[in-house]
This record gives sequence, structure tokens and C-alpha cells, in this order.
Amino acid sequence: MADIITLLPDHVANQIAAGEVIQRPASVVKELLENALDAEATEVQLLINGAGKTLIQVIDNGIGMSPTDLRLSFERHATSKIKSADDLFSIRSKGFRGEALASIAAIAQVEVHSKTAEGETASYIKISGSKIEEQEVSVAPTGTSIAVKNLFFNVPARRNFLKSEKVELRHIIDEFHRVALTHPEVKFSFLQNGSELFDLPAVSFKKRIANVFGNKIEEKLIPVEEMTTVAGIEGFVVKPEFAKKSRGQQFFFVNRRFIKSPFLHHAVSSAFEGLLRDHFHPGYFIYIQVDPKTIDINIHPTKTEIKFEEEQNLYAIIKSMVKHSLGMFQATPVLDFDRDPNLDTPYALHQKIPTEQPPIEVDSSFNPFKSSEGSRLKTTQSSWESLYSGLEIPNDPFPLDNSLKMAIEEAPKVFQLLRKFIVTSTRSGLLIIDQQRAHQRVLYEKFLIGVTKRNLLSQQLIFPKEIELSQQQMALFGELEENLNAMGFAVKLKKQKLIITGIPAVCDDKQLGKLFEEILSAINSDHQTESFSQADYMAKMLSKSLSIQSNTVLSTQEQQALLDDFFACKDTLTSPFNRRIFITLDKEELENKLN
Ligand code: ADP
Ligand code: MG
Repeated sequence: MADIITLLPDHVANQIAAGEVIQRPASVVKELLENALDAEATEVQLLINGAGKTLIQVIDNGIGMSPTDLRLSFERHATSKIKSADDLFSIRSKGFRGEALASIAAIAQVEVHSKTAEGETASYIKISGSKIEEQEVSVAPTGTSIAVKNLFFNVPARRNFLKSEKVELRHIIDEFHRVALTHPEVKFSFLQNGSELFDLPAVSFKKRIANVFGNKIEEKLIPVEEMTTVAGIEGFVVKPEFAKKSRGQQFFFVNRRFIKSPFLHHAVSSAFEGLLRDHFHPGYFIYIQVDPKTIDINIHPTKTEIKFEEEQNLYAIIKSMVKHSLGMFQATPVLDFDRDPNLDTPYALHQKIPTEQPPIEVDSSFNPFKSSEGSRLKTTQSSWESLYSGLEIPNDPFPLDNSLKMAIEEAPKVFQLLRKFIVTSTRSGLLIIDQQRAHQRVLYEKFLIGVTKRNLLSQQLIFPKEIELSQQQMALFGELEENLNAMGFAVKLKKQKLIITGIPAVCDDKQLGKLFEEILSAINSDHQTESFSQADYMAKMLSKSLSIQSNTVLSTQEQQALLDDFFACKDTLTSPFNRRIFITLDKEELENKLN
């Protein structure tokens, strides 16, 4: 028998392979938008005609391509993003397979103008069904403009297989949302048949969500956050009462890439258990950062599914994180007086999360955190305990000269530095804590818990304090009253006056007048819409004005008390105003500095 095997010509191979990457116009949109972001664009325009069947154009102000690169970019496996297989384990770009442009050019007519910052001129290329039809010098600004016309013109079966314009446009909008939500720092616009669908300025994540889904959503969002050695997670969940029957507001992003994960979705859903009516779905926008080495994004050609090394841990972390936030912001059913006790202790989970430190023998009876609030403390204790407990290890792995060792043991474990920082030693080195921020965090959580549980201690004032209110302040006060009471204030209105008979135990009456001035003048319409965000805002304000300021001398006892309270906080990383609270200096860093 004669030989019958031949190699397929490139354009046929490309066309076949294209089927994997490009299923519909939305797939082209995704690839082009991702290329623009990989090219570090800060402004991206998307133009669509005929739901992408006639035109898909993406214009970016990114790094552009040289004439040679522009020509090469349409070859299969042509990529600037990885060089070897090893790079697959540290991918930070969206693309890396070098297939998208080759695939698109196999099944459409493509025209590109591109210019690098150094290039004197731009270059232009026109490709149709993998054949280069024109390549020449052109005039264009730095960046890339790529137009994809008549998609599937040479694959009629595919073209006929496309759904109605409405459906295809829906898919395009979905892809646009996913990309836009991942990169709020990039300005995006989207024109469909010449009219503007979206114009998104560069903003924060929260604002971007609002710009995409409408401003109303902002007040329906509850922040979630969790930092562990497995992953850093932040984002928002939609308050249960605003859940939808559709699944349109469910987003996981991993290392700035939209992913689908039925498994992690289940973690969120189960945290919402009991809070949603039948057939309603939770909404969430959860941004996960993990070490690229611990994920495999290579398992699906369109790359929306990934594999996590730490899948089980991530599940537990996400579930507890969401539960915690729902509890913190009173998102429990209004009539549920028997609160789910789990909502109050989600952080018990910390004990199950492996840390990078090797396990050490701990004297379990040793408790460095004698605190007034025993039960709340228990849940967060373990993570700090492991940090501290090494000091008590009987078989010191680094035996010191005896006299020096005694000096260390006799020295207080805590001292104040520059009237601003509290310094304490840990198992592995030093912990330097900003006293004001730490105290803000302590107060903020106290007030919020007060609002959630309605149990903050109030102290009676021997001489009630009276404050005159303006008409407008009177009006505002009605909305504040409930939250103020929950935070430990005892207040009532009498004629034009506010009578304060009790204040939170943490507050002293000299600060009162100023405090109320601030509360009343700063609570504006922005913060009235949702009682939880108002409570959150008030807790922030109070924590700011009542916290120990910098330049305040603290006794050793006060320092220790602040530390105890601080270590019992649910979040010890940042202040209510998102500032870092402490830094550590470990043995290795110290040794490096001494080198
Ligand atoms: P991949 O993104 O997987 O590398 P593509 O086929 O999408 O593969 O793109 C091939 C190459 O073309 C990219 O690696 C990049 O170097 C270049 N490229 C594509 N789009 C752009 C763009 N908008 N700006 C600059 N370079 C681009
Ligand atoms: Mg790409």
C-alpha cells in the first residue's frame, strides 16, 4: 500500500486548532482584551458590531509590537510570555500558549496597527484565513489596535452554529465584565454598534463593581477578607436579602484571572446556608491571590478552570471568611434570635491551616494572653501562640551564653519606642506594632461586635451632658440613635437638645462634645442608606477619635493590655483605615542586616 499520511498545511491545522480556542465572538473578545492587559495597557477600548459577527476591535495603549513581532505574533506557539516549560509554574500573564492570534487569523479577517514607544513608525498587517495579505508601515499611536472582521467567514458550519445576536452579545458582555472586574485600575470603554454600553474609569475594586452593575450594588456589598499562608483573599459578598434568582453575580478571580470553581462556589453557598430563600443564589466577588506554583492553570484550553494544590484548605478558609463577614455585618435573618454560634467562631479554623513554620513543642498550659474576654480570645489565640510559644521551649535550639540569656529573660517582653510603637519579642524575632493603629483596630472591632451582639458596656455619667443640635442634626439623629445605643451610648432627645446619660466604657467624657460634633457632621447621606454601613462607619469614626494617639506614653501595664486586646482581634493585619499595624523583623533579616 502506498504511503497515505501527509502533514496538514498550516492554515488547515490552525483552523482545526482554532475550534478549541475560539468558540464564539466572546472568545475573541476575551483573548484580545487579555492581550491588551498583558501588554500593560492602562486604557482599553472595545468596539463591537453585529454582536461580534461583523467586527470585534480592541484598541489599547500598551507596549505595542515591533514589525517583526507583529508578523510573528500570528504564528502558532508564538508568545513573548514564556520561554521554557519551567515558566509554566510561575505564570503572571493571562496568555502564554501563543495560540490566540494564530487561531483568530485562521478563521477571520484580521487587521492590526501596532507601535512600540521606541518605534518611529507603526506597522500594519492584514491577514485573512491565515494568509498574510498586506504588511506595511503605518501611522498610529503607541499601542495596538486589532480588528477582527467576519468571524468564521471560512467555517460556515461554525458561523451557522452561532446563536442570536442577543445571546452572542450577552456572552461578550459577560467576558467584558470578567476582565473589567479583574482590572479596576485600567480604564475600559465598550461601544456596541456605535453606542456606548460601558465607560469605566480607573477606580477601586468596589467602585468598579458599582460601575459595572450599577451604583445601587455598592450598599449591598459586605467586605470579606482573609490573609493566610495558603492564600490572600479579599472581596465582597452581596447581602443575602439582595440575592438573585440568577447566577450573574458570582465571581472568583485567582491571581487576577476569572475562574469557575464549583467547589469553591460550594464553600460560599454553604456559608450562606439558612440565609437565602429557595432558588436564590448568593452573589460574590472574591479575589484570591496564591503562589503561582500552587496552581495549575493549564488544564483547560480556555483557562477558566484551574487546579489548586490546597483546595481543601481554601474551601475551609473561604467558607469561614464569608460566614464571619455575614455575622459581623448582621446579615443574619432579622427574626433569628438564636444566632448560629458558628458565626461567632469562624476563626477556630486558623488552627487547621498549616503555617510555614515547622511544628514546635508547646507547653499547653502556658497562656501569654490573659485577657478579660476569654472566649473571644480562644479563637485567635493559636496563631499568635505559635509565634510566642517558642520563648518557652525548654530545649532551646540556639543556646546562648548564660549571662546574656539571663539578661534576655529578665528584660520585659514589651517596651515602647518613640512613644509611637510597642516592641515585643517573638519566637522568631521582633514584632513592632503601631500603637495607634492597633488600638483603632481593637476599638473598631469592639464597637462592631457591640452592634452585632448589642452587648457593649455602657458607663452612667454622673452629670448628663447636653449638646445643642441644629435642625439638620436633629433629623440625622433619628437614624443614628439605634446604632449609638448599641455601641454603648445612652442618649435621648429633649427639645433641641441631645442628652447623653451614658457612654461606652472605653470612652471618657471629656472627649464627648467633640466626638458628637464629628459624628453628626460626618454622617451624611452616603452613610445612611444601610444601617450596617452606617454602623461600620461610626465604628471607624469612634475608633479614630478614641484611640491612643501617637506621642502618648504608655506604662508597661498599658502596653501589655493593649497587646492582649490587639491579639484577640479578628483581623490583626490592618487598621480600620487599611493601614498596616505591625511589622516583624525575624532572625534571618537581622542576620542579613548584620552581614
Ligand atoms: P499569548 O497571549 O498566549 O502569548 P497570543 O496569540 O494571544 O498568545 O499573542 C501572541 C503574542 O503577540 C503575545 O505573546 C504578545 O507578544 C503579542 N501581542 C498580542 N497582542 C498584543 C497587544 N495587544 N499588544 C502587544 N503585544 C501583543
Ligand atoms: Mg493572548
